[in-house]
Amino acid sequence: MKSKNQIRILAVDDQLRMLQSVQELVSAQGYIIDIAQGGRAAIAQLEQEAYDVIFLDLMMHDLSGHEVMAYIRDHQIDINIIVVSGDASIDAAIKALRGGAHDFLRKPYAPELLLKTLDNVVRRRILEVENKEIQKKLKHSEKLYRFMVNNSPDIVYILDPDGHFVFINKRIESLLGYDKDELTGKHYSELVFEDDMELAHYTFNERRRGTRATHNIELRLKCKDEKSSLRCFETDVVSIELSSMGLYQNRQDAEENEFIGTYGVARDISERKKAEEIIKYQAHHDLLTGLPNRILFLDRLEMSMAQARRSGKSLAVMFLDLDRFKFVNDTLGHVIGDRLLQAVGQRLKYTLRDGDTLSRHGGDEFTVLLPEIETRNDVDRVASKIIDELKSPFMVDGNELYINGSVGVTVYPDDGESADELIKNADIAMYHLKNRGKGGHQFYSDGMEALFSQSLALEGDLRKAIDADQFVVFYQPQIDARSGQLVAMEALIRWNHPTRGLLSPVEFITHAEDTGLIVPIGEWLLRRVCSDISEWRRQGLPEIQMAINLSALQIECRGFADTLIGILDEYYLPGNCLEIEITENLLMKEMENAIHKLRKLSAHGISIAIDDFGTGYSSLSYIHKLPIDTVKIDRSFVHEITPNNQDQSIIHAIIAMARGLGLKTIAEGVESEYQRQILVAAGCDVMQGYFFSRPIDAVQVQGYLGQDRHEPEEVTTFIK
Ligand code: C2E
Ligand code: CA
Ligand code: CA
Repeated sequence: MKSKNQIRILAVDDQLRMLQSVQELVSAQGYIIDIAQGGRAAIAQLEQEAYDVIFLDLMMHDLSGHEVMAYIRDHQIDINIIVVSGDASIDAAIKALRGGAHDFLRKPYAPELLLKTLDNVVRRRILEVENKEIQKKLKHSEKLYRFMVNNSPDIVYILDPDGHFVFINKRIESLLGYDKDELTGKHYSELVFEDDMELAHYTFNERRRGTRATHNIELRLKCKDEKSSLRCFETDVVSIELSSMGLYQNRQDAEENEFIGTYGVARDISERKKAEEIIKYQAHHDLLTGLPNRILFLDRLEMSMAQARRSGKSLAVMFLDLDRFKFVNDTLGHVIGDRLLQAVGQRLKYTLRDGDTLSRHGGDEFTVLLPEIETRNDVDRVASKIIDELKSPFMVDGNELYINGSVGVTVYPDDGESADELIKNADIAMYHLKNRGKGGHQFYSDGMEALFSQSLALEGDLRKAIDADQFVVFYQPQIDARSGQLVAMEALIRWNHPTRGLLSPVEFITHAEDTGLIVPIGEWLLRRVCSDISEWRRQGLPEIQMAINLSALQIECRGFADTLIGILDEYYLPGNCLEIEITENLLMKEMENAIHKLRKLSAHGISIAIDDFGTGYSSLSYIHKLPIDTVKIDRSFVHEITPNNQDQSIIHAIIAMARGLGLKTIAEGVESEYQRQILVAAGCDVMQGYFFSRPIDAVQVQGYLGQDRHEPEEVTTFIK
């Protein structure tokens, strides 16, 4: 802003004397003043310098004051003109003012009048300049605000008191696809997603101010649905975070300020919402299978329980564990293991109804929630379906994988009061089932828990059992059906448990398989048996074949055949002193892999028997592909041979089939003379069972082999 001493003045007159007196008078007041003698000189000065005020004489002989004013006008020179004239007529004054003069001074004038006129003009001049500067600044800042508002990443709006848009910034165009001008005058509710209307009602046209106003409220706005639009919006709803407040105008006459509308800012938070959703999804889902995880399962279970309580209905929880999954993981690697889990998840999902929840509990364990069941039969059906679904092979990366499942089931409200308890008890029921070496499904019942904790303890003990030398081998004689001669023996393992005494393999083999301990245990047994055989040979006792039981897990082990042959070699034993017993289920599973290994053993002279024949999902078609020598008829069939049961068609069929294929038959579990006779008549080759002898220990075997002839009555020390 200019002050007095920065004001520059030009005095123009024909008469130098006149000019000098003005100059003297004016400069004494602190102004800077130049003089120009005549119109032309004035124009020359104006061209060179910027003046604020000009004293302009109208009557000059070269150029008149009017002509100088015309020049000033034409060149848009910003200067305040004080016309000085001897012509005192009103016309002359009017003409001068029309020509752009700001004041008029009549010659001759009193010096005080000149100074007063000048002061007036200068004050106005200073005000004008100030005003112009303020205008300029205002214009600039308005532009700035407009720019800021329109380029804001947030929607900025102003509503009138009735909720109509008075102003909305350009962001609305890129965010929702509306033209900002088309919204002006429209009601805000046209933008709000229907479900959020209620909330918008309290926030969008906010009347409150300060802390009570709306801060960061989440709402959803609708996008303009214009099919023809070039814009492509992913969703038709955008999540925003809204802050708004009431606008008020001061009114002097009124007591209260007048409400004039709402100012609001809406921030696009769709990205954040998306991220939150992903995080929420990840927190509730298993990333490998995409299935709900344990947390979500618990949540749904608890909800269903509350519902069941209200409606008085029941619900079921299933705990599914995959048998042999660990083996796949260990032998084929985690990548294949993971794919298998994914495939299992997929397949199971399709066997369930929409309302059911399948979740991955962890590892190879899955849980299922059936939120509403009528009877236990319903659950039976679903569980069987699940087990059946798992039976057909999974193709993973060119591997044909077979996997079984065991399902434990609890029913609410019978089997537990809390969600945790229901899951835990289903787990126990599943464990119970596995423990007995069976697949399928099992309902929970009281008392299972005690067994469960016993099993856990057993597993711990099992790990120490090898080192502590707690295993023993018993041998059970196999008798030739026609001659009654001892022809072979089956080695059967027992565990001399430190506190529970001699345990049957039924009680621990499954644990050993689950934990993988069966492999070292099996190797221990093979060495023990070989060592016993070579000792008996050394003593010159009759050489008979020894049958050993192999678990699927052992055969699946890399290098299994070589290890077995290697151990025989260690004891200088020929292959034909050994027969291995495998179950048909094993053959179903790892066919290709197994064939190769079994052929190797067979080529080494080792016999191969199918154990428990008739109990699996028998398909005889595979038998001819395999180097099988012997079929062991399961003792459940032999058990059915009683004088009251005339139907022995299964036994006959098995024996006939085996004969047709050139295989030897062994009937196990022969307990009576009647059974022996029937089996002999049916053409069975070898028999084994309590009728001939219970399994006996190595010392007893020595005595047994020492006898010339088999006399069943003489074997008196029986175990079990
Ligand atoms: P398995 O191979 O079917 O063995 C025959 C089972 O029937 C033996 O039970 C035997 O004691 C029993 N047994 C024999 N004669 C009779 C009879 O006349 N009546 C009745 N009711 N039972 C009879 P054990 O020794 O308790 O073995 C049970 C199962 O444990 C075996 O069934 C076999 O699958 C498994 N096993 C035993 N030893 C081993 C082993 O060293 N390795 C593996 N992997 N499994 C083994
Ligand atoms: Ca056996
Ligand atoms: Ca058997």
